[in-house]
Amino acid sequence: MQSVTVRAPAKVNLQLSVGPAAADGFHELATVFHAVSLFDDVVATAAEDVTVSLENPDPTVPLDGDNLAARAAHALAAHTGTDAGVHLRLVKRIPVAAGMAGGSADAAAALVACDALWGTGLSRDELSELGAELGSDVPFALMGGTAIGTGRGTLLSPVLARGEFHWVFAVAEDGLSTPAVYRECDRLRERSGVPVPDLATDEALMAALRAGDAKAVGAALSNDLQEAAISLQPALAQTLGAAVELGALGAVVSGSGPTVAFLVRSSEAGLDVAVGLTAMGLCRDVKRAGSPAPGAKVVTVARV
Ligand code: ATP
Repeated sequence: MQSVTVRAPAKVNLQLSVGPAAADGFHELATVFHAVSLFDDVVATAAEDVTVSLENPDPTVPLDGDNLAARAAHALAAHTGTDAGVHLRLVKRIPVAAGMAGGSADAAAALVACDALWGTGLSRDELSELGAELGSDVPFALMGGTAIGTGRGTLLSPVLARGEFHWVFAVAEDGLSTPAVYRECDRLRERSGVPVPDLATDEALMAALRAGDAKAVGAALSNDLQEAAISLQPALAQTLGAAVELGALGAVVSGSGPTVAFLVRSSEAGLDVAVGLTAMGLCRDVKRAGSPAPGAKVVTVARV
């Protein structure tokens, strides 16, 4: 029997601009996705049905048909008309409910793994279209690198980015629900009465990425959901406030939070920031990563 292992990256949004809520509750976005070297692995082996297991059990991750990896396998089976099953073993390293799109990474990895295992031969564009129906971050987890996302974040165009970057992630004690953070953003906006600005990609960020200028990228990091995430988890303000003291180039809440991403000068500087954050006792876990990272790809095909 064959097993296919696919690795998919976490993401941080270097820019996350959020438009007004549409009637269906979704928000139009202008975002800059950036893949970082924190990876989940999905190991797919042939099975009767679609089943999921976790290498490290976690009560907050569903093991039934609600798991995004299982949903991806069902979606691919329905799309291609195959009656094959699969067992998906998830090796999760991306923090859960942390704003780093771990579930979406698993969905992307499961699409690529099942496509290889079942020999369904879909193109990357076809997988991306299927992925967009599973979640707004799935197409980017397939693509990796750096990309502008518009619409719900599923319309992607690659960004020219030079150089390598170094990150430290402060993972908060409790997760945040993405829909709850968007609702809080709407509530705060309504209360302030300030009109929502038109969506546009930040030209200073684009220039900084083209130049590979980490200092300028650090200065340009932005996230419209940050205020809402802080409103729901006030301790995040303290974590963000530690950036200057720790010598980071910039800090921003990652996606809908509550992880705070610190951009740092070098891998060594990242170690100092990680030690400092741990000493401050502001977060549950600290992770270090480099970027940009590649999108979901097969890393091993083995006979088992
Ligand atoms: P988003 O992609 O919406 O920003 P997130 O990165 O903040 O989400 P995820 O780690 O994707 O958070 O998890 C969000 C929720 O999705 C979890 O609380 C869990 O209940 C559910 N979930 C379903 N499948 C998975 C999966 N494979 N891995 C992690 N969570 C999953």
